Amino acid sequence: MRNLFRDFLNLFFPDLCVVCNQRLSEGEEYICTDCLLSIPKTNYHLQPDNRLEQFFAGRIPFRHIAAFAYFVKGGSIQNIIHELKYKHNPGIGRFIGELCGENIVDSDFISGLDLLAPVPLHPKRQKQRGYNQSLEICKGISRVTGIPIDSETVVRKVNNKSQTRNSRFDRWKNVEDIFALTNERSFQGKHILLVDDVITTGSTLESCAKEILKCEGCKISIYAVGTAG
Ligand SMILES: [Zn+2]
Repeated sequence: MRNLFRDFLNLFFPDLCVVCNQRLSEGEEYICTDCLLSIPKTNYHLQPDNRLEQFFAGRIPFRHIAAFAYFVKGGSIQNIIHELKYKHNPGIGRFIGELCGENIVDSDFISGLDLLAPVPLHPKRQKQRGYNQSLEICKGISRVTGIPIDSETVVRKVNNKSQTRNSRFDRWKNVEDIFALTNERSFQGKHILLVDDVITTGSTLESCAKEILKCEGCKISIYAVGTAG
């Protein structure tokens, strides 16, 4: 009965591919098979000293850096990220996260990783959006790789007065610091994969990684769904 109702609805409001807007076939989710196959993957996870690693070299100490696919203007990754960030569609984040997970699961890139950490949003922004898109991506990666997620230890600093008075935040007096740690111990001695949606200038990731690296014995790798280069 429920399927009948769904089929009926689908007749008038069909699910469309977020990339090409064509009607999805049965079994397809969010993205049609043609668009899935034409995602421009970087395969950076198989290439030490890839362009992203060169880009971050000297800015932060890291183990590995990779991105799933190239972010091209008007391309599939731009459409997917737009849907994820501005169309209230967290499900597509988990979906693309699973694709990322399948892409890297058997590679050296993920060997030795202890935790996935999404780049946190400012609480105000997260409230507006209803979710952190990077956490949704992490959920997909975690489902495939089995690597647990820690989305609590690193936070984006709170700016409003009532919360900056909170003693937890008193240690971070430098206003230029964007991120803070709530509990250094949970990252101590761990290899963290810091996950973001798209790498552009890298300055947010750099700042977040620097904060995480304050934890003793901690190692950082970075992964994003999209990269400009
Ligand atoms: Zn399509």
